Amino acid sequence: MNRKDGFSQAILDWYDRNARELPWRRLGGAHPEPYHVWLSEIMLQQTTVVTVKPYFNHFISRWPQVSDLAAAELDEVLTAWAGLGYYARARNLHKCAVAVCHNYGGSFPADEAELLSLPGIGDYTAAAVSSIAFGKRAVVVDGNIERVVSRVYRIADALPQAKPVIKAHADVLTPSDRAGDYAQALMDIGSGVCTPRNPKCELCPVASFCDGFSAGDAETFPQKAPKKKKPTRKAHIFWIENGRGEVLVRRREESGLLGGMMEFPSTAWQEQAPVPDEVEALLTQIGVEGTSKPPVTTELVRHTFTHFHLELTPHVVKAGEAGGSGSNDAFWLAPDAFSTIALPTLMKKVVQSVFKGQGSLDL
Ligand code: SF4
Repeated sequence: MNRKDGFSQAILDWYDRNARELPWRRLGGAHPEPYHVWLSEIMLQQTTVVTVKPYFNHFISRWPQVSDLAAAELDEVLTAWAGLGYYARARNLHKCAVAVCHNYGGSFPADEAELLSLPGIGDYTAAAVSSIAFGKRAVVVDGNIERVVSRVYRIADALPQAKPVIKAHADVLTPSDRAGDYAQALMDIGSGVCTPRNPKCELCPVASFCDGFSAGDAETFPQKAPKKKKPTRKAHIFWIENGRGEVLVRRREESGLLGGMMEFPSTAWQEQAPVPDEVEALLTQIGVEGTSKPPVTTELVRHTFTHFHLELTPHVVKAGEAGGSGSNDAFWLAPDAFSTIALPTLMKKVVQSVFKGQGSLDL
């Protein structure tokens, strides 16, 4: 048997014995629901299975069909997504559900090219849905599969430039039959056997096909280009409270980082140190009257995004009895209603900083 056939057969045999049971999977030959596969794959990007499971179960019980998700308000979806990060995905998730209902009568297309035309579906997700949900042959390459393939072939090019080379090799290995099971098996092997550190080659079904194992240097693959140091951006953020104990929140721009999510007003996030007396300027800009007491600064909030670290200095500001009316994009909300809005993890950290020493707020 050549490497290609032997490799995929060994992978499939292993899967029949070791497949993980996951809420979005169907074992024993049946294809899972395309809606479940798509939802789980979008959620799993940059996040672990353990984190995703409760979110997946919540979404499926709340919106059992893709048409239910399409009919939901975007805000409800963003709120349910809060904590998974990368909120542009949640917005695209909703857009995609709407497009599936409008353009395909509520049934996901099986064809990779058609899937690719839907919002938020890229090469990887299109291949995963097409193969896992419909059994079509498609070359699925996620981070786990990338690692396995780069070790099996000892691919010398560094990521990300190596991606096309890895995909070409993955294509050679992908079988025509049971392509979905094969992809899921490789994902499982990548996450549980061919781990980034200390791969368990003694348990691996494809050790006899693996050049990295033979050479004894598997762990050095995939090769990676040196990482650039992330810059640190800083800003002042304001917890502005009116006489009724409500706090000013506003919605971020639809496009960009945390797009469409709610936030407390802040100065621009930039690498230069923020100017300390921006409070009054910001209050005027968002339509809040002058402060009655000087601001109180609470514990620094740190957060890391893909491309930069962020340090926010929170200030608690008492905005007088009436507290002004807020501007077009800002409104007053009692803290015990924060769980009803799409508040990202970063803003929850700000809430924790403000409440530190005064008990906690259930978000
Ligand atoms: Fe990964 Fe080792 Fe298996 Fe090669 S033999 S694919 S390095 S676990």
